[in-house]
Amino acid sequence: MIQIAIDGPSGAGKSTVAKAVARELGIIYVDTGALYRTIGYFVRSRDVDPKDPEGVAALLPEISVELKYENGRQIVCLNGEDLGDRIRTPEMSMYASAVSAIPAVRAFLLETQRKIARENSVIMDGRDIGTVILPNANVKIFLTASDECRATRRRDELLAKGIEVTYEEVLADMIERDRNDSTRAVAPAVAAEDAILFDNSWMTPDECTAAIIKLIKEKTEI
Ligand code: C5P
Repeated sequence: MIQIAIDGPSGAGKSTVAKAVARELGIIYVDTGALYRTIGYFVRSRDVDPKDPEGVAALLPEISVELKYENGRQIVCLNGEDLGDRIRTPEMSMYASAVSAIPAVRAFLLETQRKIARENSVIMDGRDIGTVILPNANVKIFLTASDECRATRRRDELLAKGIEVTYEEVLADMIERDRNDSTRAVAPAVAAEDAILFDNSWMTPDECTAAIIKLIKEKTEI
């Protein structure tokens, strides 16, 4: 069993790289951000303030979040329902970021993440994988890129999904979300001490993926 952690801020290209690595190495890709987005979606559907720790914690007993894989693609089910791209909007990014700062939410999602890594070889992307979820991961990577590169990539991704956004809106949202994520009291989005820092501002997705696969092969028996 092998565990690979990829952490870093939004828009650094974690999911693109992690998906390609999973395909190449025949292991499972776990997108942990989708779990926080799913909780955010439920909180929004109940009209609860995502920054209210008591209000959000009171909803958790009503939530069941399940990770499934169909043809290698991750599906997150909320109380049995696949939410698809409904969790991918800019609004859900902000909801996810707000609820993810609440300790009860992080505790609620901890076992789901650890269980899948106990039962499968995984590459897991998130913010606290190397520090909290898989502290003994075989390889830890902290992937980052300049604010400008990340905002451009995220804007293009959203436009491709038909979500109308401007570069300025995406940049402002991203900076706010990164600030929330890296300064929160629990599991802040910081690199683990033993993580390899990787800035891919000047790399194409293919170059970044190739470099990371090479690194993983050097560090593991895979
Ligand atoms: O990775 P993604 O952008 O989908 O994550 C959405 C939000 O979920 C992040 O901004 C962060 O607040 C939260 N998150 C987290 N810990 C993780 C993954 C995501 O706090 N492991």
